[in-house]
Amino acid sequence: MVKAVVGANWGDEGKGKITDMLAKQADVVVRFQGGANAGHTIVNDYGKFALHTLPSGVFYGHTTSIIGNGVALNIPVLMNEIQSIVDQGVPMPKILISDRAQMVMSYHILFDQYEEERLGGKSFGSTKSGIAPFYSDKYAKIGFQVSELFDEELLKEKVVRICEQKNVLLEHLYHKPLLTPEGLLEELHEYRDMVKPYVCNVSLYLHNALKEGKEVLLEGQLGTLKDPDHGIYPMVTSSSTLAAFGAIGAGIPPYEIKEVITVCKAYSSAVGAGAFVSEIFGDEADELRRRGGDGGEFGATTGRPRRMGWFDCVASKYGCRLQGTTGVAFTVLDVLGYLKEIPVCVAYDIDGEITTEFPTTHLLEKAKPVIEKLPGWNCDIRGIKNYEDLPENCRKYIEFVEEKIGYPITMVSNGPGREDIIYRNK
Ligand code: GDP
Repeated sequence: MVKAVVGANWGDEGKGKITDMLAKQADVVVRFQGGANAGHTIVNDYGKFALHTLPSGVFYGHTTSIIGNGVALNIPVLMNEIQSIVDQGVPMPKILISDRAQMVMSYHILFDQYEEERLGGKSFGSTKSGIAPFYSDKYAKIGFQVSELFDEELLKEKVVRICEQKNVLLEHLYHKPLLTPEGLLEELHEYRDMVKPYVCNVSLYLHNALKEGKEVLLEGQLGTLKDPDHGIYPMVTSSSTLAAFGAIGAGIPPYEIKEVITVCKAYSSAVGAGAFVSEIFGDEADELRRRGGDGGEFGATTGRPRRMGWFDCVASKYGCRLQGTTGVAFTVLDVLGYLKEIPVCVAYDIDGEITTEFPTTHLLEKAKPVIEKLPGWNCDIRGIKNYEDLPENCRKYIEFVEEKIGYPITMVSNGPGREDIIYRNK
């Protein structure tokens, strides 16, 4: 049976925590898209970790952690990450890497930086991890697949072709140092030696695992609103963030995904540029940012301060719908305990028209939030284990959101740890 854990919003909803928690019952955890450009923060018995490429199941001895074919695989980053968790006392996890995954090359990272430099103020807010150039090359059919590392003849021919193509841009568009076939070949040989022990025919492995009745978790990165098709294009990421893509990025049939757990944060945050209708500024934002998440809302990979906003029912309803949500995990609710009143964005006003349906980007740019205020609960809800024990106003907030988004909230997260979770039977 396959469950997907995905985000409803702009990312940073707390998927890592939910995956880490659910991984207790899972045999396999698969990353199916994205790269080392975003991160999950996980707090457990071993300490606090920021994972960028490894699936959030690596902390359990019984789970196999898989990097699926849909991932932008940065091999040195992955190797460093494995080393750093082992150095912090986590037993060496069992890791498999798809032979069909493609690799982020050092020139992808350079091209990302050069393009941001060239665009100046008009940039897309890239994290400069090479993700957009990587996926562009993948679909332009000039990427390097892990399996190709083991075909020396193919590599020798391909590095020449890649240099010819990339050097035109490096010379004439960016005015930067050129690539050499020898340099690229050396880089690929290093990657081959590092990745060799982990390479696997992942779709076959998962096919057999599912036949044996194993539990598989698919772990998404970012959220619906960063999806290249259904998100706030062009301020999106370069691979699909939807549960449906989990089938492709892991190599399993779509009908195997039985549950989609969509993670929604009790307020909003976003990184990078783009329309963010319920955004707040100044002291109000600073306070929420400081109190948010576990130690403040700052990017797990970049350390950038996140943009802050109130819960957005329009974006979250849409986010849940596109994921095909079977249950919502409502996270970071404890953080709102300081507020006397909690503003919620319940609709958008676009040129005087009120809507609760999320629009395409050019209309989104014009949307103004319609805010409703709910009474706060004004106390600390950490440590509470039963739904009925939550303060009445807190339950009302949850039920208000649930009604607005139209999907059942089956889990409420009231702290960063594995045990900080309240299950609701829906
Ligand atoms: P992800 O990318 O979706 O996994 O999200 P991030 O890891 O970037 O952000 C979530 C942050 O919130 C992390 O620092 C988590 O430790 C923290 N977190 C997750 N759930 C909760 C919660 O219920 N309460 C609090 N206070 N923090 C949480």
